[in-house]
Amino acid sequence: MSSSLSSVLSSSSSSSHPLAPYGWDEGIAAEFAPYAEQGLVPGRVVRVDRGQCDVVTPDGVVRADTAFVTPHDPMRVICTGDWAAVDPDGSPRYVRTYLPRRTAFVRSTSSQRSEGQILAANVDHAIIAVSLAVELDLGRIERFLALAWESGAHPLVVLTKADLVPDATGRSYLVQDVETVAPGVPVLSVSSLTGEGMDVLAAVVSGGTSVLLGVSGAGKSTLANALLGEDAMEVQATRDADGKGRHTTTTRNLLALPGGGVLIDTPGLRGVGLWDAAAGVGQVFSEIEELAEDCRFHDCAHESEPGCAVRAAIEDDALPERRLDSYRKLLRENQRIVAKTDARLRAELRRDWKLRHAEGRAAMEAKRGGRVR
Ligand code: ZN
Repeated sequence: MSSSLSSVLSSSSSSSHPLAPYGWDEGIAAEFAPYAEQGLVPGRVVRVDRGQCDVVTPDGVVRADTAFVTPHDPMRVICTGDWAAVDPDGSPRYVRTYLPRRTAFVRSTSSQRSEGQILAANVDHAIIAVSLAVELDLGRIERFLALAWESGAHPLVVLTKADLVPDATGRSYLVQDVETVAPGVPVLSVSSLTGEGMDVLAAVVSGGTSVLLGVSGAGKSTLANALLGEDAMEVQATRDADGKGRHTTTTRNLLALPGGGVLIDTPGLRGVGLWDAAAGVGQVFSEIEELAEDCRFHDCAHESEPGCAVRAAIEDDALPERRLDSYRKLLRENQRIVAKTDARLRAELRRDWKLRHAEGRAAMEAKRGGRVR
C-alpha cells in the first residue's frame, strides 16, 4: 500500500478511507471508534500464523502478536477477515482485540477430537464452485450450502467450466437441477475461457467479502485468478516486523479485488466439514421444513406417520425422495458432531476447573485478559 493512503486517513468519509478497498464501512468505523480513542490502529487480518498475524492497516501490512486474541476457546481465536485493533507502535505490536464478527465460517476438524475451527470472519458471499466437467454431486452442493447459510454469508452457486457443456440448453438443464437443491440461492454458469457469466460474478463479489468453497478440481483457483487479475496473485514480499532487515515471503489469504470487493482464500476453506450447522441444514432444505409444518404430528419423522405432509409431497412428485434422504443424512451428521462437541466441552470445563484450583486466581485473570467479549 502506498504511503499516500495515510494522508487520507483523517477523512470522515468511509469510502475514501484507506481501508475501504478491504471492506471498511461506516458500521465498522462506528464500532471501531472507542478503540481509535484509545490510540489503537484499525486493520483487517489478512493472514494468521502461530502466535502472529498480518494485518493490513492504513500504513500498510504490519505483523502483530496475537497473544491477547488467542483465548482458550478455539471459536474466539482471531482469524482471517477479522477487524483488529492494533497497537500504534512497539515491538512487538499487539492485536488488542477484534470487532464483533458479522459472520463466521467454522469447520469441524479431525473426526477424532471434534473441535470447531474458525476459518474466516466477516464474509458476505460464499461462492460454491461446482465443476460442470464432472457429474453433479447434489448432496455435496447441499453440504456446502448448509455450511454457507450457517456462517451467515449469502451463498451463490457457480457452475464452472461451462465451455465444456457446449449446448446452452444442456447448461440450463444443469442449472435447473442445481436450483432444485438450492432454494433461494442464485445459480450461475461461468466459463473463464469464454468469459461467460464472469461479469455477473465480478459484480456480485464487488459488494463485500467473498470466499470460494468447493472440492479440488472445481475451478476455484481459476476463478480466483480471473477475479484477481494476474498481478495480484504474485506472491508478495513483506518485511519482517523485527526491523532486522530480514525479508520473508508470505502470502495473504485476504486480497482486495481490482474490481472492488475482497476475496478470502485460505487453504482450510477448501475441504470443509459441517460444524453444528443445524440452522444451515434447515435453510438448505427449507421446502422440507415448510412441508413438515403441515404434518399432523409435531415430531413427525416422515416415515409412515399418518397425515405426513412430506411423504404426501414425495408421492405427488412434488419433492424428490433424494432430497429427504439427503436432509436426514446431513441432520444425522450434524447431530454426531454436536454430540462429540458436547463431550469435548464437558472435558474442557473439567480441565478448566482443576486449573483454577491449582493455579488460583492468577490463572483466571490471565484467561480473562486474553478473552474477547
Ligand atoms: Zn411428516
